[in-house]
This record gives sequence, C-alpha cells and structure tokens, in this order.
Amino acid sequence: PRTSVGALPTAMAAAYGDRAAIVDGERTTTYRELDERSGAVAAALHEKGVGRGSVVLLHLGNSAEFAVVYYGALRAGATVTLTNPLQPVPGLRSQIAETGARVAFSENEGYGRVLDAADGTDLAVVVVGAEAAERGAVTLAEFTAGAGASPPLAIEPDDVAHLAYTGGTTGASKGVRVLHRNVIANVTQMIAWRAGHAVVEDAEGIVHLEPRDDAGVRGVDPGAAATVVVSPLFHAHALINMSFLLLCGATQVLAGRFDPGRMLELVERHRATYITGSPAMWHALATHPDVRTRDLSSVRVVSSGAAPIDRVTLEALAAAFPGGSVVEGYGLTEATCLVASAPLTADGEYRIGSVGLPTFDTEIEIREVGGSGPALGPGERGGLWVRGPQVTDGYLGHPEITAHQYVDGWLDTGDVAYKDEDGYVYICDRAKDMLIYKGYNVYPRELEEILVTHPDVSEAAVVGREVGAVGQEPVAFVVPAAGRAIDEDKLMAFVAEQVVPYKKVRDVIVVPSLPVSAAGKIQKVELRRRVS
Ligand code: ATP
Repeated sequence: PRTSVGALPTAMAAAYGDRAAIVDGERTTTYRELDERSGAVAAALHEKGVGRGSVVLLHLGNSAEFAVVYYGALRAGATVTLTNPLQPVPGLRSQIAETGARVAFSENEGYGRVLDAADGTDLAVVVVGAEAAERGAVTLAEFTAGAGASPPLAIEPDDVAHLAYTGGTTGASKGVRVLHRNVIANVTQMIAWRAGHAVVEDAEGIVHLEPRDDAGVRGVDPGAAATVVVSPLFHAHALINMSFLLLCGATQVLAGRFDPGRMLELVERHRATYITGSPAMWHALATHPDVRTRDLSSVRVVSSGAAPIDRVTLEALAAAFPGGSVVEGYGLTEATCLVASAPLTADGEYRIGSVGLPTFDTEIEIREVGGSGPALGPGERGGLWVRGPQVTDGYLGHPEITAHQYVDGWLDTGDVAYKDEDGYVYICDRAKDMLIYKGYNVYPRELEEILVTHPDVSEAAVVGREVGAVGQEPVAFVVPAAGRAIDEDKLMAFVAEQVVPYKKVRDVIVVPSLPVSAAGKIQKVELRRRVS
C-alpha cells in the first residue's frame, strides 16, 4: 500500500489469508479475520459518522482487539490517538480535550476511567472484551452488530494517522502528528533494513524494494517470521513494528505484560525468529536462569531500542542468542519510529556500541548542540538532526516548539551523538540528560557503561545534582548484582580510575530497582527529584 496504513489488513489478507497474524493467549487471529474484523469496526465507525478528521482514542493493552480496532479506525479514515491503558483520569481528560476524540475503545478495567475523563464531552465509549458494559458504554460486539461493508478507503497520504503522545521522559508528554505517509515510509524502511530487501532504483528514478535470496541475508524472512511482542503497542516502537510485521506476513505472539521467563517460553514454543524490546527488558531476560535451558536457536534477530543499552547487556544477549544477530535500533516518536539501525543485509555490518546507519532514504547530521549550523565531522559530538520521509508533521497545538525543532525538513532529535568515518552513528546521551560540571560536559551514559562493568553492579543510572556555581555533579543510582553488596567508596574509586577527574561520580545511592516507564525507559526525572 502506498498511501494508507488502513489498507494493510486487506492487502495482506490477499497474500497470507489463513496464516496466523496474531496469537493472543489461546486465541489465533488469521490475516483474513483481521481484515474482516477491522473492516467491521471501520463500517460501524463510518455509519456513526466517524471518518476523516475524527479522532478515535485507544485505551488498550496488547491484544488482538488492539490490532482490530487500530486498523478499523484507520480504515474508516479516522486518526488514532493512543494511551497507556493504565493512564489515570487527569491525563486521559487532557488527551481527550486536546485531540477532540469522538470515540474511545477501552478494556473492561479501564473504561470507568475513560467515562470519568470524558465527563461533559460527547465521547462515545466502546468496551472491548466485556460481557456487559454499563454507564452508557457499549461492547465491541454491540458496536459492530449489523454493520455493513467496510467503507471505501478515502485517505490522503498527508492525513494524520496517529496523534502519538511522546513518552514524557524529559518533560510534558506532547501529541505528535504522524501522517499516513510517515508510517508507510517507515515500515518500508524497515523492510529494507530488517527484512533483507535490496533497494533498487530503476531508470526513471523510482525506488523498488526487491527480496534478496542470497544466503547471507541475516534479517527477518518475509513470510516466515514469528515474533514475540512484549513492548506496549500504544508506544511507537511496537506499534510501527506491528505494521512492518504484517507486511512481512509474520505471526505476532502477544506476551502480555513483560515477564522474562514467559517470554523465553513463548520464544521456544513459537520458534520465534525476530524479537524486539527495550534495554530494561533485555537486561532482565539475559540474566534469567531459563536462558540456559530454553531452546532459543530459532531467533535470528534480537533488536534493542527506545533507550541506550550497555555493552555488558549486549554481550550477555549475544551469548544467549548465539544463532542470532543482536542489533540496536534508534528512533523517536517525532520520526515515526525508526531512524537508524544496523542493516540486516548480507553486506550489512554491526558495530558494537553503534545504532548503525541511517535507514534507507534517511539522512543524519551532527550539528553543534543548540545550533542549527553546519554539520560536524566524524568523531565530533553534537546534536543529532534527521531528515527523511518518516519525519513527522510536528506537535499538536505547539506551533512554537514545532518551529524550533523542525527546521527546513530537518528534525532536531534532542540527542547528542557522533558518527564514525563510515557514517555509523553512536548515541552519547539525550542533550537534556547531559550534565555540565565546572564548564565541562559529562555524559551520564559513559559513567553508566563503566559502572555496569563492576561485578557488584547489575544496573546503573546517573543523574546530576545541583551544586551551586559549579553546575551538576554526577550521582549514581545502582542496583546490586544478585547476592552481592556494594561498597559505595570502592565503586566511586573504580569509576575514578577510568575517567578524567571532572567526570568522577560524587555519590552512590544503592537501590533495589530503577524506575522504568511502560516503554522500558529509566525515568531519570524521578531520580533527579530524589537528589534535588
Ligand atoms: P519525551 O520526548 O516526551 O521526553 P521520549 O523521548 O522518551 O519522551 P520517545 O519518542 O519514546 O519519547 O523516545 C525517543 C528517545 O529515546 C530518543 O530521542 C532517544 O533519546 C532514546 N532512544 C531511542 N532509541 C535509542 C537507542 N538505541 N539508544 C539510545 N537512545 C535511544
């Protein structure tokens, strides 16, 4: 499909019909059923006048119904806005007001909150999976009962597919306007980078993706992939991957809330070939005892994204999946999902510590932090700017912030990075997480990388503590490794031996665990609060 994400279920049903698209517990939804069920949702929405220009809110955890409702709303021409299914009432209320959502789909557990948040608006609430709904809400079965045929797709590439709220890791969460053409571009880029397709330009300059059948291709096999999905579908990472995997004809096994033992069991049972997740998940998985007993030989690609992953975890993962390529992907909601990744083609190379190369049709420039001046050279650290068809249309209701971050087709990602001589990209840290101590820049990630190499340390996160005129001094929150105790002074000395003096960790706080968001990111805002 060239223009509309909503066209995916029908196009893929024609190709993969009875193959399982989604496995959710004991239930299997085939490609044909996904097409039929999302078509029924589209028809029901259309009959109620919900189409182009309307917003549909999803308040759903990972389930087959998530996919049914998501594609159904897009097929109706509506824009989808996504929420964490645990989102409390105030956040829901502002998202409903900001987006002007007309219909919400919620699970049984969450729909009371949606109704409370929608008080005073005419938002209609549909309950997914409930036997009976109360307080004016209807069930999904009631909603789609008697619906006619799916309406014809009438979507333009520049229509908004998602109002995707950013994680809020660094501040208030904002709604990003992700267009249909952004999503289509990004899933196509994933096909090029992850499913081993060759990018071929014809005589007219039109670019085609052609399956490669050379034995060296290491990526996902279109048509054969099975994947265990543990990341939340309401977040860009898993959401865009869902369409990429549908395009591959893959089977997506939904694992529910992340549990490393359960994930390993599902990988073995379904012979999964492609798994993606965040560093926090990979850390828990790589250190789980079942890693040694399960047969994980089917896995060909293990991809980490959403946050920096340390080398100790990367090496543990590589050891856990000896038959697979462990790679990093880098992206952000403002660029739909994927910006850079190791290309999993025969000639693609994976460089440890790097997030790979800008994906097909994407440019990355490193510029002086805070400026939009000329590109810096190899090895020089600066702000990471990206340009490509996946760069979105900006923030809903924030024209000034949009104008500041989106300049001449380029997006300022807010990350600090450098490139090597061959263009491989290395993320140093978020600009907002960087500390300035006595006028020097300190990247917490560099200190975290050192801390986790100490045998007593399992996980580490470094934040700044304000110390008047000198700036912010690095303070480390550390989780002890199983059965080990941490000697704070010795750990600080261990780091001090490996860094220039201004980067020294000035305090160590031992904690049982680090706060992690639903998308798998360490919540540094919370840690900073603890030291302020
Ligand atoms: P907010 O923008 O509201 O603070 P957020 O930045 O967490 O939330 P996302 O779009 O989910 O919102 O996250 C994108 C960010 O995640 C990137 O800008 C980058 O800082 C980080 N990130 C993603 N992948 C990687 C990676 N492989 N390595 C390092 N950092 C990564």
